[in-house]
Amino acid sequence: MSEPPLSVVRTVADLRAHVRTWKARGERVGFVPTMGALHEGHLSLVRLARERADHVVASVFVNPTQFGPNEDFDAYPRTEARDAELLASAGCELLFAPDVAEMYAPGFSTTVTVAGVSEPLDGAARPGHFAGVATVVSKLLMQAAPDVAVFGEKDYQQLQVIRRLVRDLDIPVEIVGGPTARAPDGLALSSRNAYLSVEERAAAPALARALTAAAEQLRAGAAVDQTEAQARAALEAAGFRKIDYVEVRAADDLARLGPGPVAAPARILAAAFLGRTRLIDNIAV
Ligand code: AMP
Repeated sequence: MSEPPLSVVRTVADLRAHVRTWKARGERVGFVPTMGALHEGHLSLVRLARERADHVVASVFVNPTQFGPNEDFDAYPRTEARDAELLASAGCELLFAPDVAEMYAPGFSTTVTVAGVSEPLDGAARPGHFAGVATVVSKLLMQAAPDVAVFGEKDYQQLQVIRRLVRDLDIPVEIVGGPTARAPDGLALSSRNAYLSVEERAAAPALARALTAAAEQLRAGAAVDQTEAQARAALEAAGFRKIDYVEVRAADDLARLGPGPVAAPARILAAAFLGRTRLIDNIAV
């Protein structure tokens, strides 16, 4: 089967030149930002973008400013040649793969911070993370100037932070959330799953199982505080070493819910470590 050609550009000027050509013809542009080490989850977002646009641009940029000092920036997997093949097979025509100097020129001084929605959960567990995400995503959206940009529900809080910043800064783009792609045993696909040992990989589906069970209990009218405690106990029993959070939150602004039953659209979100690998997942209630 012949795949459409994929062009790789490394500068903002070249990215803009491609997008300008398409827009001059009145064609719609979709955009999928990633950090690479692509898997089926990323590719499902590319296909979703392809359904909503004439051309899909993906970016691969491991953004240093969203990693904490003791996190895995240096170890993060970098597999650009394979990523390019996968992107082409999913219908992406342009890969933007800048180096750090292209994104952060000497003297770079601007940070985008989103109050409220970026403060709890991963915002509390990973100080500075969402400022790094909000800043790089703001830049990427202004660089690529897409009509539609697709982000995964896998990173649900990130998706809500991006929805907020696009509204607040009047960035003219439609934000679409794509469902979480999972392994057959339920584990959410993640580039970080590659860090798991055989034993840890076997234990990992307990995270999705605990959240699914909790969501069912909440739908049946269980109280938030008891459901969170049970999910936490299930994770501990499965061998999760450190649990950053297991919390039920409002689906839109991630405000705290409970302690009683939920009455509005909600999301249960968790982050926990198996060995040294931090896994996150979330499920709609
Ligand atoms: P990352 O490369 O981890 O920064 O992720 C890039 C984009 O892919 C983000 O919008 C993620 O939410 C999304 N993504 C990551 N894993 C999955 C998955 N399992 N299913 C759907 N989207 C995902």
